Amino acid sequence: KRRSLVVGNWKMNGDRSLVEKIQSQFSQASLANMDWAICPPAAYLGLFDSKTPLGAQNVSQFDSGAHTGELSVSIVKDLGCQYVIVGHSERREDNFESDEVVALKVEKILAAGLTPILCVGEPESVRDAGTVFEYLTKQLDAVVTLVGISAFANIVLAYEPIWAIGTGKTASPAQAQDVHGFIRGYLANLDSNIAAGTTILYGGSVKGSNAKELFSQADVDGGLIGGASLNPEDFLSICLAAN
Ligand code: 13P
Repeated sequence: KRRSLVVGNWKMNGDRSLVEKIQSQFSQASLANMDWAICPPAAYLGLFDSKTPLGAQNVSQFDSGAHTGELSVSIVKDLGCQYVIVGHSERREDNFESDEVVALKVEKILAAGLTPILCVGEPESVRDAGTVFEYLTKQLDAVVTLVGISAFANIVLAYEPIWAIGTGKTASPAQAQDVHGFIRGYLANLDSNIAAGTTILYGGSVKGSNAKELFSQADVDGGLIGGASLNPEDFLSICLAAN
């Protein structure tokens, strides 16, 4: 199976003391068989020691210049990031990010040699209407069209059903596997080798208590963790479930 990855997305939460706590929680942990990373608010990136693998929650689609309040890929790279979350549903909603803007960001992140964690996922209305696969196909097509399928060798995907984010309503392991299998099949139609190697994370109310079963699904390669990543003990237990 592919190597597991667990990424904590703090969103607009946390403080200096959480930076300290997470570092001390993970300093003794033995996680030799998986990869993990923290995506704190960008303002805290520089407070971490070099042992903590880091990601940014967003970057600009522009290289530099007159874009007040934005961070470029080169800035987050300079601050030690290896990963960048891109296309999170909260940014698609709060900041009106279209599939096309998301694709431009993926292109920039790849060009800088960082790993995009590309988020896709449907709202509850789409699930109820039974059109989840069509919805995800559109989100994926926009990125494939711009960067090409071979670029997916360097892209991590995250399936985050919007109805499961921050709701405590986790997708069942079978529901997650159903969609992850679909996503891998979508990639396999374009390139079967790329599909076999692509890391696909699940996100949406993952906790220590449900992580193991979700991660044991054939096409679930780890998780993108919101709320539970704010508790260092819970986050470590999720990482251990993937180790
Ligand atoms: P929760 O784990 O809080 O549901 O958030 C998931 C998420 O959106 C991670 O990016």
